[in-house]
Amino acid sequence: MATSDAVVLDSAGLHRLVDELRGRGYRVVGPTLRDNAIVLAELDGADDLPYGWGVDVAPGTYTLRRREDRAAFGHSSGPQSWKQFLHPPRKKLWSCGPDGVDSAAEPEPRYAFLGVRGCDLAAMGVLDRVLSGGEHPDGSYVGRRRQVFVVAVNCTEPGRLCFCASMATGPACRGGYDLVLTERADGAELDYVVEAGSPAGAEVLAAVPQRAADLAEVSAAADAVVAAGTRMGRRMPDGDLRQLLIESRESPHWADVANRCLTCGNCTMVCPTCFCTSTADVTDLAGEHAERWMEWASCFELDFTFVHEGPVRRSGPSRYRHWLTHKLSSWHDQFGTSGCVGCGRCIAWCPTGIDITEEMATFARLADDND
Ligand code: SF4
Ligand code: SF4
Repeated sequence: MATSDAVVLDSAGLHRLVDELRGRGYRVVGPTLRDNAIVLAELDGADDLPYGWGVDVAPGTYTLRRREDRAAFGHSSGPQSWKQFLHPPRKKLWSCGPDGVDSAAEPEPRYAFLGVRGCDLAAMGVLDRVLSGGEHPDGSYVGRRRQVFVVAVNCTEPGRLCFCASMATGPACRGGYDLVLTERADGAELDYVVEAGSPAGAEVLAAVPQRAADLAEVSAAADAVVAAGTRMGRRMPDGDLRQLLIESRESPHWADVANRCLTCGNCTMVCPTCFCTSTADVTDLAGEHAERWMEWASCFELDFTFVHEGPVRRSGPSRYRHWLTHKLSSWHDQFGTSGCVGCGRCIAWCPTGIDITEEMATFARLADDND
């Protein structure tokens, strides 16, 4: 039978892969079940994966459901992304006291990410351009990112809010990984078609029990991923979104969205590419110790644009317009790419179910009506 460079791992092989990575000093982070959601957390072993759990998502809704098979990666995006491990929500920058300043610099953790989908791989690429490109890279991000070992997963199970196919970021992983898996679940049976994407990936893979994949298996796995691309629950409208938003600047539709938007900032917190931060200083009551912390910030906060005499973007419509226009339009001018990878998180975790694809479809329709 014809073979390829791909190999097949069975369930025991996946366990060995996690153990091998842990044995090499990586902190392995992957999906696990906690608080009625599939979250990303450090794994003690492959037993911690959410076998047999899927999710149902809709605007403003996220619900776990039991699957008919034992798939470990048969769920769409959860409330978190890999961003929180590369660009933590809160980080001490320095502290000072009577003895001087302590830079708070610590060795950056060495992570292995298990289960990164195409959309989230693309999001890591976006963060790379934002936080490690340019003249002033973020040293902490760079230190974490360069050590990461990425085990990606080709998606065969898109959610109702996914639209990575229309953003050209998935469902297949398009590079930037050390290993890529395609999970095949048949009842209680699981196995994984695996390919290496880097020399480090090939070295780790060689240490794990495996068998060669035949070409029919590789082709069937690829077909399952292509089929997933036809089952996306959402799609972004076609056309030049950058220009559409430039031309929609004075649209009355911004006020309509703002009537539904609570300016809570959830969409920015769950988005795998939103990167803004602010700093906060903390002192003790005796005045002998002070700390400076970096914290995630949101462009929906009133204080986000505070300059002398107050915030620049005071109204809800102006803040929503800024967020959407930055994501899909001015991000291209700043970073040469879209700021949206089509993961659908902002739709699921918006308390009022505002849907970025629907709002863009409305702007496109209004623009057509005006032509
Ligand atoms: S804007 Fe929404 S769909 Fe796009 S990457 Fe961010 S969270 Fe995902
Ligand atoms: S769009 Fe939704 S999640 Fe984002 S700030 Fe408005 S209400 Fe919150």
